[in-house]
Amino acid sequence: MTAIFETRKDTCPQHGEFEARRFGRFGGWSRCPICDQDLAKEIEATKTQTEKDLAAERILARLNASGIPVRYHDRTLHAYMVS
Ligand SMILES: [Zn+2]
Repeated sequence: MTAIFETRKDTCPQHGEFEARRFGRFGGWSRCPICDQDLAKEIEATKTQTEKDLAAERILARLNASGIPVRYHDRTLHAYMVS
């Protein structure tokens, strides 16, 4: 159960305005949902498990850079990595 602590309007340089969400007082803000879908497609496009793992690692590095809480990473990537 994840309570969304706060929301705000944010702007993606590629996709325009979206509603960012923050999970907990010290959590980072969520990214553009369309960008997140692009990342998911990137993983789905890979053929082998090794490629999937590498893609997931790259994406985790990007998410870490954006300051999203680790718990959110796990939840998101888990759905993608079930094969
Ligand atoms: Zn975007």
